[in-house]
Amino acid sequence: MLKINNTLSRKVEEFKPIKKDEVGIYTCGPTVYREVHIGNFRTYIGADLLRRVLIHNGYRVVHIKNIVAEAIAEGKTPQEISEHFTKLYFEDEKKLNILPATHYPKASDHIKEMIAIIKIILDKGLAYETEGNVYFDVKKFKNYGELSGNTLDKMDQLLKAVRVSVETDKKDSADFALWKKADKDRLMKWESPWGEGFPGWHIECSAMSIKYLGDSFDIHTGGEDLIFPHHEDEIAQSEGATGAKFANYWMHSGFLLIDEEKMSRSRGNIYTIAELEKNLPAGRQGFEPLAFRYLTFMTHYKSKMNFTIDALQGAQTALNKLREFIVQKGLPKGEAEEFENKFYRALDDDLNMPKALGIVWEMIKSDDYTLPNKKASLLRFDEILGLDLHMAQGFLANKKEEKIPGEIIKLMEERNALRKQKRYLLADQWRRKIIKKGY
Ligand code: AMP
Ligand code: ZN
Repeated sequence: MLKINNTLSRKVEEFKPIKKDEVGIYTCGPTVYREVHIGNFRTYIGADLLRRVLIHNGYRVVHIKNIVAEAIAEGKTPQEISEHFTKLYFEDEKKLNILPATHYPKASDHIKEMIAIIKIILDKGLAYETEGNVYFDVKKFKNYGELSGNTLDKMDQLLKAVRVSVETDKKDSADFALWKKADKDRLMKWESPWGEGFPGWHIECSAMSIKYLGDSFDIHTGGEDLIFPHHEDEIAQSEGATGAKFANYWMHSGFLLIDEEKMSRSRGNIYTIAELEKNLPAGRQGFEPLAFRYLTFMTHYKSKMNFTIDALQGAQTALNKLREFIVQKGLPKGEAEEFENKFYRALDDDLNMPKALGIVWEMIKSDDYTLPNKKASLLRFDEILGLDLHMAQGFLANKKEEKIPGEIIKLMEERNALRKQKRYLLADQWRRKIIKKGY
């Protein structure tokens, strides 16, 4: 029986789905105006783990993940920018073995739905319009603060926590925008009953989760920074509009840190998957995206996790050891029953992956089961781990091929030296030598 730490109740609760054998999950997705970083991916891997454990528990999962486009001036149109980074995002998801969502709705395709919800909220008297802006009237929603603890009686803290408060036409600084009037030079804007404008930050998730999962659904996920104001405001808008309970369970991941600071674009301390694969600090070989996936499993999803290249190296080594275990002679057969029970029990206990990983290694070292039994169990565990262990042979073979012999490295260095001395004809000869040797 699966238990989840529900941010809403601040308790580890038994998971009870709305429908008998189907679970709806909504994940606040990536903003695609730049590369998505590995901190973001830690959160998406957490949602993927949840999904795989639900599937193991016999549920069909409908998983919705929105794609957030944002208009910025980079010489390209916002659409070109978001298309480019959406493509990169999907490639990274694939490399990390994150199961593709059932739908990836885009905010810009759901403006009509957003306007419809805003109209309902206005009709119910929960919002007001001021010259082309529409604001949610937080005081009118009695459960405000239920998720984050930022209730209205804690107004002082609330105001400090609200990101920016440039809107001066709000009745109350805690109110938040549902629709904003667009400046003349803004690229992404739409017609609405309140004039030309664009939706507020939170309304897209309400509109799209309701459209694809219904007024009430099972689990909403995201990183811990989204609890307030984003998710608090999603609840206020959605429940304000539908009158129904929005999401039953809220699952929030802890931050990925670097030097004990949150990894974020604005701090400039990010790594991307591509960087892990290639451009690492001098002298370091690239790592596999799956090594990062493994690394995230070493910390409970809800705890903060400090990222270091050394830790990633450790994860890469562990991943390779799992592969070496799998490629040993002997067909997988039967199971290592005791370890299977323990493995799934750890995951059912609020996705305790560090514990489950410990059980994997305990099983590998154990003498109580045969190699075929242990292999069979490990391959089954991999349906949740998502480390492609069934392809271990191929990964290990590739690794060997990629090892460049010393002779070739020497030729490459000589060629670089020749190029530096501008002796291009000779450098070209060296290049041909390298190619001739098959590199
Ligand atoms: P954003 O693109 O900033 O909206 O973030 C997308 C998702 O990644 C959200 O669920 C965030 O909460 C999450 N996120 C952002 N930064 C981090 C981080 N350093 N560690 C873990 N999750 C993060
Ligand atoms: Zn969202």
